[in-house]
Amino acid sequence: MNRRRFLIAACACALHLAAMGSALAGPAVRPALRRGGGPLGSATSPPIASGASGASGAGPSHAPSDQPVPGSKGSRPPLDDDLAAQQMPGADEADTPSNLDAAVRDYLSKMRRFDSPHPSDITLPPQRIPVLRAATDRLGRLERTVGHGFFYLLGFDEAVRIARGYPAVGAFSPQELALIDELFHADASAYGFMGMKPLNSLTATIPAREVYKVPGMGNFVYQGEPRATWETIRRLLGEDVVLTSGVRGIMKQFHLFLTKAATNGGNLSLASRSLAPPGYSFHGIGDFDVGQRGYGARNFTSAFTTTPVFARLEELGYITLRYPQDNMLGVRFEPWHIKVATA
Ligand SMILES: [Zn+2]
Repeated sequence: MNRRRFLIAACACALHLAAMGSALAGPAVRPALRRGGGPLGSATSPPIASGASGASGAGPSHAPSDQPVPGSKGSRPPLDDDLAAQQMPGADEADTPSNLDAAVRDYLSKMRRFDSPHPSDITLPPQRIPVLRAATDRLGRLERTVGHGFFYLLGFDEAVRIARGYPAVGAFSPQELALIDELFHADASAYGFMGMKPLNSLTATIPAREVYKVPGMGNFVYQGEPRATWETIRRLLGEDVVLTSGVRGIMKQFHLFLTKAATNGGNLSLASRSLAPPGYSFHGIGDFDVGQRGYGARNFTSAFTTTPVFARLEELGYITLRYPQDNMLGVRFEPWHIKVATA
């Protein structure tokens, strides 16, 4: 068994952050956060109601299910995804160390309130919002048409072809395709996402032979180390552990990311704090999410760290968190995200 050391940054690890703050918040983070304009939008975002983000899935109607994902057409999408993320009540800068640089403090506060707009956020121009909504809705119809299981693996070219051939979906408009192309090829650090980009081709596909459909979970994992890691976790933890999200192709990630942006006024920065922009998600090459059976939406909060599943994973010490607490990648704390892939 390939045991991995379980790394989790201690909450507000002050010394670590102070060192990283001077290294990253200066030349790398600050220009991106302060950027006032660009082809995709500007930081002069329209006011957004603080509760608007709730529409993205924190409500009870969006609670993720531990039940198998139906693959049939027309059924409700599986809410296994990071769209179900919830901000912890009361998360603010009160518990950030006071000796940090003001920019780092601001960054940490923003990340803990990841689902709220921030003055530095980059938002799509208002005239592009209808196109954003149209593309998001079309992807939703496409997912319902092809089935949720198949949609996880769907590539761009096939998505365009299927949309064109099914009146229930309808062809992507040139404006929608332009937005998709532009978002995929944009440097996401311009709106605050500082992670790596493991997938650089919009037309990348996922061969069926490279993935394994996990029985009873409705999700796929990649063959090889990801599958071995999941099966080891499952064997050691038993029925308690569920695979909440596995392989996500580029179109699945687009649907998640655009949905999050569309339900938050086109705010790309806010969306990217919860969901890696398309191409940047390691779900595209091997990572997966796990949860505690029966824990529902709380699997997507930091409360997951209080579950027996998390405790056991930590005790076993062979997983690594990709997005620890107070990471400097522009991504909220994701204790449920299991790092497998390397890129
Ligand atoms: Zn994840």
